[in-house]
Parts: sequence; C-alpha cells; structure tokens
Amino acid sequence: ASFGYEEVPEHEKSQRVGAVFNNVSSSYDQMNDAMSLGLHRLWKDRLVTKLSPFPGMQHLDVAGGTGDVAFRIASSLQAFSFGSSSSCDTGSVTVCDINESMLQQGQARASKGLPGGQLLRWVVGDAENLPFPDASFDSYTIAFGIRNVTRIQQALDDAVRVLKPGGRFMCLEFSHVDMPLLKEVYDLYSFNIIPKLGKAIANDEASYQYLVESIRRFPPREEFSAMLEIAQLQRIECEILTGGVVAMYSGFKL
Ligand code: SAM
Repeated sequence: ASFGYEEVPEHEKSQRVGAVFNNVSSSYDQMNDAMSLGLHRLWKDRLVTKLSPFPGMQHLDVAGGTGDVAFRIASSLQAFSFGSSSSCDTGSVTVCDINESMLQQGQARASKGLPGGQLLRWVVGDAENLPFPDASFDSYTIAFGIRNVTRIQQALDDAVRVLKPGGRFMCLEFSHVDMPLLKEVYDLYSFNIIPKLGKAIANDEASYQYLVESIRRFPPREEFSAMLEIAQLQRIECEILTGGVVAMYSGFKL
C-alpha cells in the first residue's frame, strides 16, 4: 500500500491506522527507540513526573499500545506500596487500545515480568467511545495516540466523560518545530530517514511514511489547546519538549 501525501478521507483513516499498527506491532518498541533516538523514553518519563501518580490512583491510558506509559505509571504506584506498611489500595492502570495486536505485545512484556505489570488491565476499545462508565478514573493519558484518532474532538469529550470530577487529562503528541535550523534538521530526518528506518527494521516504509504525514497534519499547539477548552477541560497547560518536536498538554475536569 502506498500512503501518499494526499489528505486522508475520514472514513479511510481508521482503516489505515488499523493496518499501520497491525503491520508494525511486533517491531513497535524497537522502532520507537530507533526513530526517536531513545528520546521517547524521556518524553514519557516527563509525562509521568508531571502526572504525579498517587497511591490508590485509578488511571486510564488510552491508545496505550504496548503499554510504555502504563508500565511507568504502574511501577510508580507499586513503589508506593513497597514503601508503605499500610494496606491501602495500590491503584490500577487500565491500558485501552483499538488494536488487539498492540495490546498483546504489551501483555507479553507484562508476562516477562516488566515492573508494574501486575497492576495493568488490558482492554480493547476506541478512544472515541470508551468502554467505561462515566466518572470512573482519576487520570487519563494518551501518548502519541490522539493524532491517529479519526474524530479528535469526540475522543476529547469522551476522555472528560470517563474522568472523575477533579481528574486530570494529559496528552503527549508530536508537534511542530519552529526554530529555523532545528526545523530543517527535523524535516530532513523525518521525511528521509524515518521511512528508511521503517524499511530497514520493520520492512514497512509506507506505514512509517504515513506516521510522518500524520504528524504534519496534526493541529498546531494553539488549535489543539482550543479543542481541550471545547471539551470543558480547565487549567490547560502546554509544555514544549525538545524544541517543539513534542508537546505535552495537561488539563483538569473541574
Ligand atoms: N501510547 C503508546 C506509546 O506511546 O508507545 C502507543 C502509541 S502508538 C504511536 C498509537 C496507538 O494508537 C496504536 O497502538 C493504535 O492502535 C492506537 N489507536 C489508534 N486509533 C485509536 C483509537 N481510535 N482508539 C484507541 N486507540 C487507537
């Protein structure tokens, strides 16, 4: 399949996204390290630091894929229970993704004993129509997932629906680099090197070209922050990471 530079019609987007993540699931973690030069680990660490997990937290990680963010949150929840003599609830982390093969990769990591694995629950579901009741989670994260969702505003509205009052929404997503020199390096890297890496590691240049394109099409930071406001999130913040390569958004359901 060739995913060119044309606009993707809405009805085709979910099929393409499904095909992309089916194709890449087995090499996904390896590709993440290669493509981001390991930086995705720092971005995810920053997300979890800012989220500040607390004992007993009921967390939902949407578009959670192989569980990278979820394992981090679960292991910090577990650290509380090791450090405390009380029997208070440790908390739980639900990983929700539309693609079962991504979740299976994550479950395989948990069964190999990756820290935090026992606190994880794996659920197939669509970010636009989450299979959870209203007000069921203290916090919600979506890392490098929202740009793949077909109706972004609907996913944001549903995030707010499943959060408890006072709950926190956080999102990591690729953004746009504005600094002139960095922008040139970034464009060269993402348009030329990432698809080649996709071919070399995953034998799938088209999927990685599609991922690069989806980053270009994602709304700028101001526009995405406005969508968070429309979803009724409050105290919205946007932190720029690595010169704008990534942005981290935070908001509360108050
Ligand atoms: N959050 C993980 C991480 O940071 O490593 C995975 C990110 S991966 C780039 C994007 C994920 O979004 C894929 O696992 C894909 O299946 C999932 N996804 C795409 N559309 C979705 C939707 N509508 N609802 C839930 N998950 C979706």
